[in-house]
Amino acid sequence: MKPSPIPAAVAALCACLAAATAGAAAARPWLDANRSPDERARLAVAAMTTEEKLAILHGPMPINFPGAPSVAWPAEAITAAGYVPGVPRLGLPPLLETDASLGIANGPDLRPGDVATALPAGLALAATFNLPLAQATGTLLGEEAHAKGFNVLLGVGANLARDPRNGRNFEYLGEDPLLAGLLAAEEMHGIQGQHVVATLKHFALNDNETNRLTLDARIDEAAAHESDLLAFQLALERSDPGAVMCSYNLVNGSHACGNDWLLNQVLKGDWQYRGWVMSDWGAVHGVDDALHGLDQESGEQLDGQVYFGAPLAAAVAAGKMPMRRIDDMARRILRSLFAVGVVDHPPAQSADKAFDKAAIDYKAHAAHALEEARQGIVLLRNEGGLLPLADSIKRIAVVGGNAHVGVLSGGGSAQVMPSSGPAVAVPIGGRAPFFDYRKAYYLPGSPLAAIRAAAPKALVDYDSGSFPADAAALAAGADVAIVFVTRHELEGYDVPDLRLPNGQDETVAAVAAANPRTIVVLETGNPVAMPWVDKVAGVLAAWYPGQEGGRAIADILFGAANPSGRLPVTFPVDDAHSVRPRLPNLGADPAAAVSVDYSEGADVGYRWYLRHGVLPLYPFGFGLSYSSFGYGGFDVQSGSQPSVSFTVTNTSKRAGADVPQVYLVSVGGKAEPRLLGFRRVQLNPGETQAVRMNIDPRLLAHYDAAGGRWRLAGGTYRLALARSAQDHVDERDLRLSARDFR
Ligand code: BGC
Repeated sequence: MKPSPIPAAVAALCACLAAATAGAAAARPWLDANRSPDERARLAVAAMTTEEKLAILHGPMPINFPGAPSVAWPAEAITAAGYVPGVPRLGLPPLLETDASLGIANGPDLRPGDVATALPAGLALAATFNLPLAQATGTLLGEEAHAKGFNVLLGVGANLARDPRNGRNFEYLGEDPLLAGLLAAEEMHGIQGQHVVATLKHFALNDNETNRLTLDARIDEAAAHESDLLAFQLALERSDPGAVMCSYNLVNGSHACGNDWLLNQVLKGDWQYRGWVMSDWGAVHGVDDALHGLDQESGEQLDGQVYFGAPLAAAVAAGKMPMRRIDDMARRILRSLFAVGVVDHPPAQSADKAFDKAAIDYKAHAAHALEEARQGIVLLRNEGGLLPLADSIKRIAVVGGNAHVGVLSGGGSAQVMPSSGPAVAVPIGGRAPFFDYRKAYYLPGSPLAAIRAAAPKALVDYDSGSFPADAAALAAGADVAIVFVTRHELEGYDVPDLRLPNGQDETVAAVAAANPRTIVVLETGNPVAMPWVDKVAGVLAAWYPGQEGGRAIADILFGAANPSGRLPVTFPVDDAHSVRPRLPNLGADPAAAVSVDYSEGADVGYRWYLRHGVLPLYPFGFGLSYSSFGYGGFDVQSGSQPSVSFTVTNTSKRAGADVPQVYLVSVGGKAEPRLLGFRRVQLNPGETQAVRMNIDPRLLAHYDAAGGRWRLAGGTYRLALARSAQDHVDERDLRLSARDFR
């Protein structure tokens, strides 16, 4: 059939539109997606006026807090963590930034009714040792952010759990640089796949919250490279996040956001980072921070002045700030927006800011949250194989932890309003900062309901645990007692010690004395001391398990899921048996300049325990399963790319997942404990899988700070195939020649 002729008017219109588009592309070549991000950024910066360049270097937190200077922002901003204007004249979008460590944050319900999938704590994700799962988590975050209109996500946090009392460890990914670095990379990969910028934070050594604005983290440079910095380096080189957020604290005497060594020398120099450095909210101390590597001032009303506003413009006008530095700052921001696809795939923000629920598949995302929680729960103790609980159980006593309400979540800027139903907020008061954020949120659904659903034939009673004697009386008449213990932890505060608060230890001890078939479920953001551990039959570390956590806990208790989590942090016996027996600066005036000497250097977590022969309660990498696994054929291969190989066999009648780990034990006979590799392996009964892992030579080497290089000593490296940092199944020697590398 002959095509019908196009009416002349339509043809003319089409030609006109095509010409206009071509004209627009020619006039705005930086919008041409066929050009490289570098070229697009260079072209855009060349087209910008000085005012336009300066305008994209700072922005407010579009929230008015009681007590903070009040600010105004344009209608296009979303009530969330950050807003930075774009350049509409040139088609360059504003930055619409949200917190997102554990879901799209909205605490304390600043956007009324805007819910999101509330994921388990970062420590739970780390406990999965599951890299593909971390990527899927990032994809979920990116999807929800994009659907809600955000184009920058203020996560992932990769600070090491150097102090087991750090109030933000729950947001992070554990104590080991390899584990944290690889997981952060996968998560950021997932986020950026949705055309949302990922922000690696908080750079660096933001490892205590006490006096975080005034705390000087003192550490040997080489040791920093082998620990905290290595986590960031691994994450950056594997995922190329658009932004890095510098931290509040000082590092070796200068503020992290104005620290030439951290930002210019290490991040942008040694590591050749091409994205932009944004400040933490209230972490800028002067215009000169720009000279020391900071590219953008965030949450500007929280700083002493809007330094990157009028003062920076004045410095440029006076010739004190080179224009090429301003160009570099603007270019870095724009390069990331082009590289991640923010400009080409803008978020579809609904005009009425209804936080478009239709675009988000919350049901599918809840299924992800459930699976992550199941895989992240660590079974620490299971005496006499009490777990999984048998169908024949008739009476169950559930005690404490507000298990009739929901599961606890960690507080601060990462707080999410869950899609599973309204959270119950308990205001906890106390001193600023973060007054409004000082609420303990319990996320539905409740573990009690999940236990009842999992054991429909049993009589399940609940006691609050407030009075140990009442709880003990209930437990005495039950076949099994399940005690939930909680500790609320939040941004801005470290916990003072490793104990459980509010007399919960007494409750556990009383219940265990009344019924030895007692199982304790921990909902905490860090390790805790367990003075009663020998008296109970079971312990689960559920962390803050997210909105599907109640169900996940029941699934583990009753065997619908087989535990596979492994500890991403060492559980010390108590404070006295940890790297710093007392929390540094406990009780200090929040404004006082204080310091902490991280004298353990690169020996974070298990490295310190092993080197000093201090036995923890539970070691890094530890976790039980309802299956059993055997290892064989451990072999090591030398050369410029060392590798190891072995097999894992499921020797039980139950399908399950194992996480074999490979550690460096010693070099030339000197103890040098380090995680070299891990793999989560899912196996059917009787199934064997062969595993091969390459070893990153940095994990075998020492950093030479003066030479800016890694030095691998020639000699014998003892390697172990292990179930945890402490439980080595087999050991082999690897011989390597000396070499230096960057
Ligand atoms: C936190 C950051 C967060 C920012 C914006 C700061 O207090 O340290 O992690 O991204 O606030 O909410």
